[in-house]
Amino acid sequence: MKIYGKKRALNALTNFGRSGRMPHALLLYGARGIGKRTLADYVAMGYMCEKHGAVPCMQCNECRRVSEHIHPDVVYPLKLMGDKERYNMDGLRQLISDCYIKPNDGDIRVCIFEKLDEMRPEHQNALLKFIEEPLDFNRYIFTAEKKVSILETILSRVTAVEVDGADGADLWAALAEKGIGGERAEELYARFGGNIGAALTFEESGEELQYMTAAVNAAEAIAGRRESACLMALLSLKTREELFETLGILSDIFAEAAAKRGGKEPAGAFRAQSDKLAAGFSTKALTGLYNEAVRLYGMSFTNPNLRLFAGECCGAFFTVMEK
Ligand SMILES: [Zn+2]
Repeated sequence: MKIYGKKRALNALTNFGRSGRMPHALLLYGARGIGKRTLADYVAMGYMCEKHGAVPCMQCNECRRVSEHIHPDVVYPLKLMGDKERYNMDGLRQLISDCYIKPNDGDIRVCIFEKLDEMRPEHQNALLKFIEEPLDFNRYIFTAEKKVSILETILSRVTAVEVDGADGADLWAALAEKGIGGERAEELYARFGGNIGAALTFEESGEELQYMTAAVNAAEAIAGRRESACLMALLSLKTREELFETLGILSDIFAEAAAKRGGKEPAGAFRAQSDKLAAGFSTKALTGLYNEAVRLYGMSFTNPNLRLFAGECCGAFFTVMEK
């Protein structure tokens, strides 16, 4: 296992390790593909490593078992929830009761709760007491794309660390490891910025990721003030998960455009679209678009009808930008 980029997050984690104050409950948040799961495994290695250093050695038998996902005391609850890999009350209750028993091999058990922002509020509530009164041998790591769908009561009990992307050199190294170089690497960097996971998924699947295409097309339509094109882009999505991803990306694009408008040069992944938006809209309009995207992102799992919701999103964007 190798870790590319994520320098700020790694620094924060190393500081926790050095001071011996790794938080009992940690939240790693950042874009899809940015490497939250890899970093969660890295933190789990830190707990399990035979060398007991401030950072894991990443080579001993314990570190190896964690990286291969075969360590009996590193638990991925989402994988234990049954076929659908969705959090559910029965699965969570079973997990919680299992976690009151001591770990198998060592002194510590690590629970890596992925996609906390996709967990329904009642399920998050069920976890509250569990993380509030932690048993000595349990540690919790949560991952999420954004904090907006996470209950305040949970947020106030975790230490949040933002997972940052890779710089050009790191992306190049990660791509080179997969035999990708030259012009193709340039293209991927232009398209995905420092998001190594998104670049590799795109490269390996050989096809455009639908939610990403929809986000780019919707942003272009908004920049060109073409409401029906925006609606078509969002209606191209088949699942709530895709719409959720698209709204997440749109909020990033709007934030990037607002930053550019304010004279900053953010290293975002969607330069062409954020440039157009920054040129065509006021800071106020861009902030309005951003706020709407974040609000709708938080609603995407509670809204029952995908097509109606796509229409609502589009209407909300065009209302706020014309104000
Ligand atoms: Zn080790």
